[in-house]
Amino acid sequence: MNIVYIALGSNQNNPVYHILKGMKQINHLNHTHIIKKSSLYSSKPLGPKNQPDYINAVIKIQTALEPEELLNSLQKIEDIHHRQRIKKWGPRTLDLDILIYNNLEINSKRLTIPHPEMTNREFVLIPLFEITNHRFNIPKFGKLVHYLKRNL
Ligand code: ADP
Ligand code: MG
Repeated sequence: MNIVYIALGSNQNNPVYHILKGMKQINHLNHTHIIKKSSLYSSKPLGPKNQPDYINAVIKIQTALEPEELLNSLQKIEDIHHRQRIKKWGPRTLDLDILIYNNLEINSKRLTIPHPEMTNREFVLIPLFEITNHRFNIPKFGKLVHYLKRNL
């Protein structure tokens, strides 16, 4: 079994609903279970400011899905939420990003793991800290608390 951390984000049409529904759908994927869920956090949008605030969360899952299979499944879930990919960092009903997959480092056309921006984003670091601990190590990057201190 593989241990994976996923970030969820939404800022359209009742974001809390999309985040909670997204968590349920992930829990229902084949051979996949949520082990831990963070609280829901509110954050200001990155990029274009003329869009609503976001709701963010991070979950820890156990899964038998390989990284690409997991990405396919997560993109299907995004599609069910009628996510439209209009512009980078534009509004979205549901964004599902794979943050960490075991201790793997992946740099393929479709996947960069660990997620390259995760250490720059409080809305990822804080919920991740909530469901891990002060010793937690982000593969390739190093200690989570180091980045938290720098960002707060
Ligand atoms: P963003 O999350 O950066 O705002 P998108 O959700 O629109 O942008 O993602 C665009 C592409 O990012 C996807 O087609 C996917 O192939 C790629 N991608 C690369 N690494 C990851 C990752 N770790 N998790 C999710 N998607 C990823
Ligand atoms: Mg994404």
